[in-house]
Amino acid sequence: MQVIDKVEGKVPRLPDLFSWTDEGVRIRSAKCHDCDTYFFPEYHAQHRPDCPRENVEKVLLANKGKLATFTIQHYMCPPPFKTTGDITPYGLGLVEFPEGISVAGLIMETDLDSLKIGQEVETFDYVLYKDEDGNDVVTWAFRAVK
Ligand SMILES: [Zn+2]
Repeated sequence: MQVIDKVEGKVPRLPDLFSWTDEGVRIRSAKCHDCDTYFFPEYHAQHRPDCPRENVEKVLLANKGKLATFTIQHYMCPPPFKTTGDITPYGLGLVEFPEGISVAGLIMETDLDSLKIGQEVETFDYVLYKDEDGNDVVTWAFRAVK
């Protein structure tokens, strides 16, 4: 797997939360080899109090996971969440990755009525809005695997 440092015309809304790769968008996590725990974000400080935290490695989660639970929102997220226009209704889901960690995110580009717990979803970069330089400002989101 090859990490792609920069995608022309796209910028992440917040740094260090996901990476583009030649195998799709991957959420950035960290694995502590001392206590076998994954973290998100990768720099997240919460940890087991008695763990020495000496062997923490940055990792990229699989591109696909299973939808553990979801809800459908009919109102916009409050600021600082920002999009071009109204995206309601949209899905908000918790996705369980093969590594054993679950990460929440928007569910977009998917028929919301077809969503089922346990279905496979993939991580992709969802365009929130354009910045003053004309770049697409993106975040990670999930969509049904076709
Ligand atoms: Zn640990």
